[in-house]
Amino acid sequence: MITIKHLSKQYINPDGTVFKVLKDVNCEINPGEVISIIGPSGTGKSTFLRAINLLDPPTGGEILFDGENILAKGYPLNKLRQKMGMVFQSFNLFEHLSILDNVTFAPMKLHHLDRRQAEEEAMAMLRKVGMAEKANAMPSDLSGGQKQRVAIARCLAMHPEVILFDEPTSALDPTMVGEVLSVLRQLASEGMTMLIVTHEMKFARDVSTRIFFMNDGIIYEDGTPQQIFENPVHSATKAFVQRIRKAVFEVDGPDYDMLGVHSQMDAFCNKYHIADKGVAAGRIVDLVAEKVMPTAYPYTLRLTYSELNDVASLDVMKERLEASPLLGADAGVAEELRRLCREIVEEPTTRGFRVKFIL
Ligand code: ADP
Ligand code: MG
Repeated sequence: MITIKHLSKQYINPDGTVFKVLKDVNCEINPGEVISIIGPSGTGKSTFLRAINLLDPPTGGEILFDGENILAKGYPLNKLRQKMGMVFQSFNLFEHLSILDNVTFAPMKLHHLDRRQAEEEAMAMLRKVGMAEKANAMPSDLSGGQKQRVAIARCLAMHPEVILFDEPTSALDPTMVGEVLSVLRQLASEGMTMLIVTHEMKFARDVSTRIFFMNDGIIYEDGTPQQIFENPVHSATKAFVQRIRKAVFEVDGPDYDMLGVHSQMDAFCNKYHIADKGVAAGRIVDLVAEKVMPTAYPYTLRLTYSELNDVASLDVMKERLEASPLLGADAGVAEELRRLCREIVEEPTTRGFRVKFIL
């Protein structure tokens, strides 16, 4: 469907030097593929999508869409806009138009549908994303997740052949990420061709037919989710997919910022969609502080989450400690701690002792 050859994009810095954002991007996108584009920030993922749909035309290379060179002089931009939809991080709804009018706007203008036809179609698309009952609302009445679903309906109303999504969930409150991802999952299962820049690793792994790992202005590695996540060829890919998220807190006295620790741990767990684990972690932190180590200051709490393995753990670490603090704990407390997690690993470290609660 889309063939991209030696795509490049460069900017001229104010001092006249050249900054190459996209260096040499090559790929082939086939009908029905769901491709997630992952990679560190600043590596050109957004620039790549904006180059493909000519929002920010590339400075070199070729893009063939259904066999036609869209970079050729005179290629009609309207035709491209109809065949290729784009959904942005920040929704970009028309704030002064109702939800229904947001969706009917382009089909009436570009497909010349009359209002009745356009509205019928728009309602069908809004129903598909679960937003039909908000047809008469204004964008400002909606939550971020709802706005993004409307933005997707607006895109679908043009019957595009492919949709590009640039971090469609990263501006959303964590509680709303799921509703948008489930719309994307549904589109994927219906065979919609999609290119999705995302930081949602679990989603990318579950839904994609292929993953592009972008790094340093090129598609550094391209493969099935299994190849990229389980058996990456390049060390940069491996480092990226295996990175572990961490949050560290010091408990340095009886008046430590208990509420601060709880709220930051909750925020961390919400961010990675493991809110249920946050509840258990909070309870463990309290039990440790009140019942297990009430006078053992200072010690360190570390919450870690590996997106790749979907494993979260809460570590309690204390320097110059030789035996597990759980040894001296009340049996009932130890039992409750055991029930709060999947496994407890007690191990000496080079500097002291660590109790790892695998959540
Ligand atoms: P990503 O989406 O992977 O985070 P971007 O594609 O947004 O990365 O940006 C890649 C690089 O290109 C960044 O260093 C960014 O500062 C630079 N860049 C993007 N747009 C412009 C622009 N209009 N002018 C100059 N530099 C830009
Ligand atoms: Mg970006």
